[in-house]
Amino acid sequence: MENSFKFFSNTKCKYFPCHKTSDIKDFNCLFCFCPLYSLGDKCGGDFIYLENGVKDCTNCILPHKAENYQFVLYKLSK
Ligand code: SF4
Repeated sequence: MENSFKFFSNTKCKYFPCHKTSDIKDFNCLFCFCPLYSLGDKCGGDFIYLENGVKDCTNCILPHKAENYQFVLYKLSK
């Protein structure tokens, strides 16, 4: 996918890709830090809460899939 206002693939980043993915061409770095984190258990992503109460997003790829751009904006508008 071409970099644009809704997609940015930062292949030069030393952590790229920072989550496991089967489609590296579709890996969107636009939401490098997930803007939905503060929504707690309402983010819609694949998270778990650790015993110490920290929200662990290790297995979540939601903000990094190019097709989820509108979904992230929708959740932020709520
Ligand atoms: S689970 Fe996914 S969508 Fe939810 S805050 Fe974590 S990275 Fe974002």
